[in-house]
Amino acid sequence: MLAFVLTTASYFFLEFPWYYLILPPFLYSLVLAVGSAFIGLGFFVKSVCKAETNQKTLSLSFDDGPDATKTPLILETLKVNQIKASFFVIGKKIKGNEALLKQIREEGHIIANHSFSHSYFYDFYPTKKVIEDLRLNNNTIKEIIGLTPTLFRPPYGVTNPNIARAVKQLELISIGWNVRSLDTVITDTNKLLKRVTDRIKPGSILLFHDTGSNTLETLKEIILFAQKNGYRIVSLTELLKINAYEES
Ligand SMILES: [Zn+2]
Repeated sequence: MLAFVLTTASYFFLEFPWYYLILPPFLYSLVLAVGSAFIGLGFFVKSVCKAETNQKTLSLSFDDGPDATKTPLILETLKVNQIKASFFVIGKKIKGNEALLKQIREEGHIIANHSFSHSYFYDFYPTKKVIEDLRLNNNTIKEIIGLTPTLFRPPYGVTNPNIARAVKQLELISIGWNVRSLDTVITDTNKLLKRVTDRIKPGSILLFHDTGSNTLETLKEIILFAQKNGYRIVSLTELLKINAYEES
C-alpha cells in the first residue's frame, strides 16, 4: 500500500510510464495469490504437509464436516478397518451434529479446527476476526468433547499474513496436505483413485472431504491400495509425533 502511495505521489514529480503506477499493487497481489494458493510452499503460514520418513505410512484427513449423512458412513468404514483419521470440522456445522462430533472423538479420531465460518471471504478477515473465528470454533468443540484442538487447517487451504498472525497467537499447528484428492470436484471414482494413488509417498497426508459425493467409495479403495502396497494408515499424531489437543 505504502509503495502504491509513494509511486502515485512520485508520478507527479517524475516522468515515467503510467503502468509503473499499477506495478507495485499488481506484484503485491501476485505474491499474495501465489503464496496463498500453494499451502505447501509455506509462504505465510508454515504448514505441515507431510512427514519426513522412509516408512510406508500415510494419514487420512477429512475436511468440511460434520455432515449428518456422509460422516457416519466414513466413520463406519474407518471403524471396520480399524483406521484412525483426522476430521477438520467447520464450527457452524456442529449445531445439531453434537452427537456425531462426540462419536468421532469416541471412535478414536482426531478433531481439528477448520474455522467456524469457513467464509469465502476468510482471506479478507483482519487478524482480530480470524482469531475470534478460530477461538469460537475451538470453544464450540471444547464444549462437546472437553478438549481444545491444536491442529488447524485454513479454509480452502488459503493462507495470508493475517491468518499467519492468528495461528501464531493461538499457538495452533497448521496442517496442510501433499495429496489433494479433489473429491469435491472429480466425479469419476476411478479417476479420483488414480489421482490419489499416483501421488502417495511415505509420510503422505491425504486430503478428503466428508461432503464429497464419491469420497466413501474412494476411501474404501484407498484402504485396499494401502493394504496391497504395504502402507500403514496412521493418525496424524502418530505420523507427525505431535499433540492434537491443548494440555489441560
Ligand atoms: Zn474446507
